Amino acid sequence: MENTKEKQCPQFPYFGAKYPDASCSDGYLWDLDSYDSDSGGCTKGGEDPCPFCNESEYVQRLKDSEFSEIEIEAHIEYLNKKYNY
Ligand SMILES: [Zn+2]
Repeated sequence: MENTKEKQCPQFPYFGAKYPDASCSDGYLWDLDSYDSDSGGCTKGGEDPCPFCNESEYVQRLKDSEFSEIEIEAHIEYLNKKYNY
């Protein structure tokens, strides 16, 4: 992992909620709705790449899901603008 910047990625809707339900940890997204107060962490997630700090892997994932390059570019731009990353 070559991401050494301290900047925290924004939380955003990802796991199907209308509110921000995804939180990035080391380049992968975790479902905030799965937060477990006993362990102090999320129990669901860790497999989906973060679009902010792990963009290349996120884009690859979208390509595998048969999104077009134009759709993907627009989506990334939208996220970056909306969350001012
Ligand atoms: Zn991130």
